[in-house]
Amino acid sequence: MTPVPDPAARYLFVSDVHLDAEAPEAQRQFLEFLRTHAAGARVLYILGDLFESWVGDDDAEGDRSAVLAGLRALTAGGVACFLLHGNRDFLIGGDFCRDTGCQLLPDPVIAAIDGERVLLTHGDALCTDDHAYQELRSIVRTPAWQGRFLSLPLSDRQLLANEARAGSRAHTARTIPKIMDVNAAAVTAAFKAARVRRIIHGHTHRPAVHDALVDGQPAQRIVLGAWYEQGSYVVYESGRYELRSLPR
Ligand code: MN
Repeated sequence: MTPVPDPAARYLFVSDVHLDAEAPEAQRQFLEFLRTHAAGARVLYILGDLFESWVGDDDAEGDRSAVLAGLRALTAGGVACFLLHGNRDFLIGGDFCRDTGCQLLPDPVIAAIDGERVLLTHGDALCTDDHAYQELRSIVRTPAWQGRFLSLPLSDRQLLANEARAGSRAHTARTIPKIMDVNAAAVTAAFKAARVRRIIHGHTHRPAVHDALVDGQPAQRIVLGAWYEQGSYVVYESGRYELRSLPR
């Protein structure tokens, strides 16, 4: 049964904002997005990699306090804000949520968007062709690894994060682009396992709306873009999804 759209329901989705002290323009644009577009929404979903790097909730470096305040103002104004971990900021924890009013969701998660079950995920887990990355992911996502890492002094964690970013850039530079994209079989498996007709994710920085058939039924995968050169978001309203870019 097709749910009847609620005309007042407006849901927003962003991913891969990659906020960083070295990219003040992106931060300005995101804060404006929170004050304008997001302020009138029912829910804002942030599907991972809000920050370029996050080595613990005690890391208040740069202009992060402005971002936390922007999110706090949004949630205080009655907009629910849900957050998934990305591969850059998977150490966002309870203090961040307390300070911002955001709620962490597991990845992947099935959300009810105006009555429709939709699978939300950062997207890195779908990139199964990148074996080196998946191996790293399986290590750093364990509580044991994270507990050890978070017990290090902040300066050591920042140093290690910078090294990891350099390593990630080198890996990206020498890996052929197709391997960095989602694996088609992993996408089909995700549709089937969750029994959904729609997936929204980011991570690949390849914004697009992919229409497909899964088990003979129409299915849609919406990919959010990164905020490096412009903003990117998905809006759901009046029963329709739209992928939009925000020029800078
Ligand atoms: Mn990512």
